[in-house]
Formats: sequence, C-alpha cells, structure tokens
Amino acid sequence: MLVIGGGNAALCAALTAREAGASVLLLESAPVEWRGGNSIHTRNLRCMHDAPQDVLTEAYPEEEFWQDLLKVTGGQTNEALARLVIRESHHVRGWMRRHGVHFQPSLSGTLHLSRTNAFFMGGGKALVNAYYRSAQALGVQVRYGVTVDRLELRDGRFVAAFAGAERFEARCCVLAAGGFESNLAWLREAWGRNERGEWPAEQFAVRGTRFNQGVLLKHLIEQGADAIGDPTQAHMVAIDARAPLYDGGICTRVDCVSLGIVVNTEAQRFYDEGEDFWPKRYAIWGRLVAQQPRQRAYSIIDAKAIGRFMPPVFPGERADTLRALAVQLQLDEGTLQRTVAEFNAACRLGAFDHAVLDDCHTDGLAPAKTHWALPIDTPPYFGFALKPGVTFTYLGLKVNPQAAVHFGGRPSGNLFAAGEMMAGNVLGKGYTAGVGMTIGTVFGRIAGASAAQALQREVQHDAA
Ligand SMILES: Cc1cc2nc3c(=O)[nH]c(=O)nc-3n(C[C@H](O)[C@H](O)[C@H](O)COP(=O)(O)OP(=O)(O)OC[C@H]3O[C@@H](n4cnc5c(N)ncnc54)[C@H](O)[C@@H]3O)c2cc1C
Repeated sequence: MLVIGGGNAALCAALTAREAGASVLLLESAPVEWRGGNSIHTRNLRCMHDAPQDVLTEAYPEEEFWQDLLKVTGGQTNEALARLVIRESHHVRGWMRRHGVHFQPSLSGTLHLSRTNAFFMGGGKALVNAYYRSAQALGVQVRYGVTVDRLELRDGRFVAAFAGAERFEARCCVLAAGGFESNLAWLREAWGRNERGEWPAEQFAVRGTRFNQGVLLKHLIEQGADAIGDPTQAHMVAIDARAPLYDGGICTRVDCVSLGIVVNTEAQRFYDEGEDFWPKRYAIWGRLVAQQPRQRAYSIIDAKAIGRFMPPVFPGERADTLRALAVQLQLDEGTLQRTVAEFNAACRLGAFDHAVLDDCHTDGLAPAKTHWALPIDTPPYFGFALKPGVTFTYLGLKVNPQAAVHFGGRPSGNLFAAGEMMAGNVLGKGYTAGVGMTIGTVFGRIAGASAAQALQREVQHDAA
C-alpha cells in the first residue's frame, strides 16, 4: 500500500498498516533534511483522561474535551468523528511510546496545559525522527523528494499515484499530505480582496513547512471527492511581524495578548483580549489581525505582565512612556494614549489570577475585556507588532469513521485520508491547543488499519 505524506499522520498510518502486516511505501515530498511537515514544529497532543495519567495532571473527561471542541468550533464539527478522536486519545500514548516517543510534563507558564496536553520530549522533531526510525526498523519503504501530483482513480477507487511521469501502483492508499497552507496563491485566492482594496493573504506568514501546497487536495476535489470546510478557515495565530515566510515555528509566537491590550494600526482596540484562556483563543487572533487594516496589530503590555507569560524569543519595543512606545511602533501618539486611558478608566479590579477566568474586567467599554483587565500604567511599556501566521488550513476531504474518502456521498473502498487533509471534519473553525496532533494520530492509525484491512480483503478476494 501507499502512504502519501511524511508527517505525523502519514507515519502513524504507515506504522499501523505495517504492524498489521501490510507492505508499505511512504512518499514524502520534502528532502530528508526537511521531512516531517508541520509535525516537526509541534510540542504536544491533547488527551482525555479520567484520572491523573503519567505526565497529565487531574482529569480531563470526554465530556469536557467535547465541550471545549464544541465551543471553539461554534458547532462546526462532526460529533461522531470528534468523539472518536477524543476517546481514542485516551489510549494512544502507549502505542506512541512503543514507537519511541517520550513524554514530559508541560513547562510551567506554557499556556495552562499541564492537565490537558502531553508534551513530547524533544518536541515534534524528536517524535517524527522516532517514527521514521521505527518505520525503518519495521521495513516501511520511504522515498523522499517525491511530490505526488495526481491519482488514477476508477469509480472512487484508488488505482495509482503519479509524481510527474513516475507511476506508483498499489492496492490501497492513505492520503496524509497536509492542507494547502503553504500555497500562497491559493490563500490569496481564497481570502480575496477586502473592502479596503487589500489582499489580506499577501501579509500572511506560514508558520510551518513550505511543502503543504495542497496539490492533491485540489486534485481530489476536482476528481469528485467530497470536500468539507471553508477555504478561508484555518488555524491562524497572531505572530511576531518579523517572522519569516516559512518555518518560523513556535518561536515567533507572542503570548502576552491576554495580559494587555491589542490595538490596530489606528491605535484602536478591536476584540476582547481576555475572552478565554489563551490556549482556547490564541488561534483566533491571526484571523482577527487579518481583518484589520494592513493586517497589522500591536500587543501592548506594561511591566506588571512581565514574568506572567513565556517571553517571545525576539524582544519587542520597550519605552518608559506610552507616548515613546507609540512613536517606536509608528502609531498615532494621541490616539494610543487615549485608547489606553479609556481602557484604564474602565478596568474594574478584582482578584487578578491569570490561571482562572478571574473577575478583573472592564465596565462600559466596547469591546470589553472580560478577564485579566489591569490598567496599563506601570513603566516600562512593551509593544509587539503582530501579523497573521497560518498554521494549517481546514478545507479537507470528507471521511467516515474508517477514514475512507467519500465520492458523491459514497465511501471509497481503498482510499483513506488522515491529518490536516481531513481535520476539517472535526475542526470547522477555531482550535484548542494540541488537537491537531490528536486528530492526526488517531485518524492516522485508523487510516492505516483500514488500509491494511482493505488490502487483506483484496488479497483474499484474489486468492478465492
Ligand atoms: C509552528 C507549529 C506548531 C504547532 N504545534 C502544535 C502542537 O503543539 N500540537 C498540535 O496538536 N498541533 C500543532 N500544530 C499543528 C500540527 O502541526 C498539525 O496538526 C499536524 O502536524 C498535521 O499532521 P499531518 O501529518 O497532517 O501534516 P504534516 O505534518 O504537515 O505532514 C504533511 C506531509 O505531507 C507532505 N506532502 C505535502 N504534499 C505532498 C505531496 N503532494 N506528495 C507527497 N508528500 C506531500 C509534506 O512534505 C509533509 O511531510 C503546529 C503547527 C505548526 C506549524
């Protein structure tokens, strides 16, 4: 069988199928030194558990996980598939360990995640390397630098894959080639032009790999595969405006949004910075910034916030007065001072606690800041310029609980999808930290098992 892609979902599928006895060829578009897609940038996965489990504290029951997902997606999720992911997340770490993945407790100060998310020792790069080592040991064949650009299909069944003139025939296939987030032209087309005449996507940076061009996603949709999701929906983080176009990874993230205010280029606030815990909200801020003039915004904090969040790798602007900070950020001084003064006057102080949804909020201010609202009044002041950073897109292929790709509402008998290519079934919009790897791991394993079963059926059929 064939696995197309070389990140977490592809590797989980390849390993599972191989364990079930299938002979597996994995085709990775990237050269070996860039293998692993967006998965190399990850740090953790979200897991349900009813009691403390090794690196996970307390409990995170199925219902709470489901409610978190329901809230962030605004109901744009397939409950059966989502619950399948959630339930399987309970067991999956034993299997991951057997393939060389090690876990560690979450670092203090990282997004309140010690209860819900298991961190990979050495991050996603170590996880991917462990899986490749295990794949090699089990006899999975791997080819690097092979970009599959089309499939040969017959009546919704996979026949062969092509990379240029090279043809790969197989009895079944798992697609795990990511979303289309690396394809700048497609992002530009999907986001279009706004009412100010700007093309917002031209200001985006891609947080991860350059290899997820969505070639197969587009091809499959054109060939009649059922699609799910909206092409403008994506995991999008507000990142350091100095981030590179590709592969900036997590070190370009700016995590102080909930501790201060965020203003646009007109020095005006535009959204509740304290709406919910940062892990449940950080992925909406890229989109919010994308909707602002010039797709820029500025996170502004004062000295009280320092020490309460993971400091960004690159220092921001620092000044002893708000006026000086405005000059450094090229914002209108008077407007920024007024915005901060209005915010400060509206703050109703309670017992500040960044670990809970506390009672420090604003009164009579639009938009409100509903938690962690403390006046910005203690120098030095800090400002970070932000731009939208696309993590992964949600437009994907519709699948069933066996991970089968659908054509005209009918599941394929031998073509399966996993990871970002189908994450839109569970994530119509929004995000909750760590669920990308949970979806990829669970559906990677399901797709691998389904493909191995399909293979067995075919072999038995041929023998009969
Ligand atoms: C900076 C960053 C941090 C993140 N942190 C986390 C985190 O901590 N926890 C979490 O859950 N999620 C996180 N994510 C999201 C996570 O990376 C994805 O949900 C997950 O890695 C998706 O796995 P995947 O296998 O579907 O895609 P990928 O890992 O991106 O793999 C796709 C693979 O397909 C290959 N490919 C693409 N096109 C082709 C083609 N035509 N032919 C052959 N191969 C092809 C690519 O080279 C790549 O190897 C993060 C993402 C980024 C960018």
